[in-house]
Amino acid sequence: MKCPKCNNEMQIAFCNKAEGLSCAMPEKFDNFIFLDKDLSGAGLKKFFPHKAEWHPAYLCQDCTIYVIEYGVSMNHKEAEKKAKKIIKTSN
Ligand SMILES: [Zn+2]
Repeated sequence: MKCPKCNNEMQIAFCNKAEGLSCAMPEKFDNFIFLDKDLSGAGLKKFFPHKAEWHPAYLCQDCTIYVIEYGVSMNHKEAEKKAKKIIKTSN
C-alpha cells in the first residue's frame, strides 16, 4: 500500500484490537467536540495474546500515518504466519 501523503510504500504491520481502536471522525474537530469511536467494539476486553485478534495495518513512519484494515481480522497464529512470510520475502 502506498502512503497517501508521501506516496512511498508503507510498512506492513498488525493492529491488535484487544485494546480497542480509537478513532475520532474529522467532522468532530470542526465543533471541537472530541468523541472517540471504538471501531472494533472491543470495549474493556482484556488482552490475552493467544486469543488476540489482529488486523492488517500499514505504517509510514516518516509521515506518522497508520492505516488499519479493521474489517479483516486474523487470530494470533494466522498473524504470526503472515508476519513470518513478510519477513521471509523482505530478506
Ligand atoms: Zn508517508
